[in-house]
Order: sequence, then structure tokens, then C-alpha cells
Amino acid sequence: QSEKASGSYAFYDVEMNRMIAGRLYLESGLRRALQRDEFFLLYQPKVDIHSGQVLGAEALIRWAHPKDGIISPIEFISIAEETNLILQIDAWVLDTACAQARIWQDAGFAPFRIAVNVSAKEFTDSLAERVQQALHRHQISPLWLELEITESMLMQNAEGVVKIMSEITALGVKLALDDFGTGYSSLSYLKKFPIDTLKIDRSFIQGIPDDIDDCAIASAIISMAKQMKHRVIAEGVENREQFAFLQKMGCDEIQGYLFSRPLNVDVFTDLIAKKISL
Ligand code: C2E
Ligand code: CA
Ligand code: CA
Ligand code: CA
Repeated sequence: QSEKASGSYAFYDVEMNRMIAGRLYLESGLRRALQRDEFFLLYQPKVDIHSGQVLGAEALIRWAHPKDGIISPIEFISIAEETNLILQIDAWVLDTACAQARIWQDAGFAPFRIAVNVSAKEFTDSLAERVQQALHRHQISPLWLELEITESMLMQNAEGVVKIMSEITALGVKLALDDFGTGYSSLSYLKKFPIDTLKIDRSFIQGIPDDIDDCAIASAIISMAKQMKHRVIAEGVENREQFAFLQKMGCDEIQGYLFSRPLNVDVFTDLIAKKISL
């Protein structure tokens, strides 16, 4: 074995060990986080594109790590999915969002939708039942809840998927198709599934107004959504040009840093209480 080869081997081992150690650290950290309640939710407003009124919010998870500070879901969701911890984490998110809705309901707010992200592992036959149980546990109206699912979940097995979705919408809970346009899938499924809202992925919003492809894709999604009587929301709206373009095209709602970052619960509650139009 040449020196060079053994050298690169050693490097590889060190890197591998570091990666494995990092994953184990995250995984055991996530288990502890569930036990010690280290997660919290931020709420990013969804805004009516015409009135500027806040219509609801997307609940976004954060991890308050005791040593490493606030950790973004981008850092831990994929490991949580691989280890099935995502099931417990998403159950915590659903429960916490419903508990918060109950607090708002008790404070006299009229219901507004809180959108919760559903991961692929969670999208099973028992989903509607788990949602119903959460609504029942907290005694809240289904008008408080929306689920964001992704295209890839719909491609698994069509019949089972339609059944799961129908059970959820039958509860009065709305369904949004998240990251829309990134799934490379046939559009024919849109007819079959009981979806309320299409959520245009941020990657198509980014290039507006200069990138003609992004403009074309965003416009096409908006016009298709309207003709199919779905609502349509754009995520990741960061500037006035994007906003003006989406408004002109007839997009219904907007979410993004232009209006608001994800907010902690107190700041978001203030926003709703003051009926501030963004
Ligand atoms: P997503 O569902 O596409 O959520 C939107 C992400 O875009 C959020 O990132 C949000 O903070 C960010 N964002 C919002 N407006 C803007 C903007 O104007 N510009 C830019 N650059 N970004 C914007 P976040 O909170 O880091 O979440 C990342 C992803 O993690 C989410 O993407 C979602 O897939 C996942 N996630 C977040 N919370 C949960 C959860 O409770 N459960 C599950 N399963 N996944 C979650
Ligand atoms: Ca989402
Ligand atoms: Ca999204
Ligand atoms: Ca996205």
C-alpha cells in the first residue's frame, strides 16, 4: 500500500467517523429533545394578497438545543425521518398547534388556519384518525387546521391516498399541496385528489421577475389552480417585484420574508389581535 493511498484512507475514516458521530449525536439529541420538550413552534403569517389581512399561519418547528442553540428543521428533519423519530416529532407538532389553537379559541379569536407540515412517513391510513383525536383532545373546530402535504406522497398508491385525503377533508380540515411544481409528476392526479390549495414552491418565486422560466411556471400554476377552483399561495416571497407579479397573475395568498419572518407565538398573537394588515 502506498503512502498516499493509506493517507487518503485515514482521511476517509476520520471523515466517516465524524459523520457517523454527528448523526448519532443528532439522533440521541432528538430523543432527549422529545423527552425534555426542547422543540417549539414559530408561526409564519399567510397573507391575503389583496387586503393584506393575515389569514392564518404555517407552523414551523425549531429545536432549542441546550448547547448548540436554535437548530433549524433543515438540520434534523431528514435524520428524524430515517430514524422514525419524525412520527413522534410530528405528533408533537400537531398536538402543540392544536393546543395553541385552543388558547386562541378561548381568547375569543375567530378561527384562522394553522398549517402543519406532514412528513411522508406520517401519511398513512391512520392519519385522519390521529388528526381527529387531536381536534377532540383540545376541543377545537377543524377550521383551525390545515395540513401541508407534498406531491411525492400522492404518488405512492393512488387509491389509498384518495381515501386518506377524503377522510381528512371530511373532518373539515383543509389540505394544501406543498412545494408544488418540484415533484416531476403527472398533473392528472390533481383532478383526483381533494386538495384545497396549491402552494407554489419558493424555487419558482425566487427568479421573478427577471427569470422568464420562473415567471412562466408561476403564472401557469396560478392559472391552472384558478381554473380548477383551488386556492393558490406563493411561498418565499421576498420583494415587491415578486409580490406585484403574483398579484397581477391572480395569486390568492402570499407567505414570505417580504411580509414576515416566522414569528414566535406572542408576536404572532399580537399581530392577529391588532388585526394588522401587512
Ligand atoms: P417548507 O414547508 O417549504 O417551509 C417553508 C420554509 O421556507 C421555512 O423554512 C420558512 O422559514 C422558509 N421561508 C419562509 N419565507 C421565506 C422567504 O421569504 N425566503 C426564504 N429564503 N425562506 C423563507 P424552515 O422553517 O427552515 O423549514 C424548512 C423545512 O423544514 C420546511 O420547508 C419543511 O419541509 C420542514 N419543516 C418545518 N417544520 C416542520 C414540521 O413541523 N414537521 C415537518 N415534518 N417538517 C417541517
Ligand atoms: Ca410547508
Ligand atoms: Ca413549502
Ligand atoms: Ca418549499
